Amino acid sequence: MSCSDCVHFAQNPNWGGYRAGCLECCARSIAQSPAFHDALMDRQKGANGFPPRYKEALQRAFRGDWQTFHVRVKHYAGLIEKAKVEA
Ligand SMILES: [Zn+2]
Repeated sequence: MSCSDCVHFAQNPNWGGYRAGCLECCARSIAQSPAFHDALMDRQKGANGFPPRYKEALQRAFRGDWQTFHVRVKHYAGLIEKAKVEA
């Protein structure tokens, strides 16, 4: 599932548009959120599991599918980070 903002993002990972109601856009926005950043920092410190703030953001957005979308969030974070390095 995707929308016109997802199509733009596929062509340009620096794209900053998000469509309300699009789950892929929501995953992209969480990938750039402080909650996800916290999760990365925790992981680097050797923590296991999900920081509560990040898990809550996933559950609020994706309900029962949050673990599936955690994978999507990581996927988008990787693409966004790669685009920054190449910019
Ligand atoms: Zn979208």
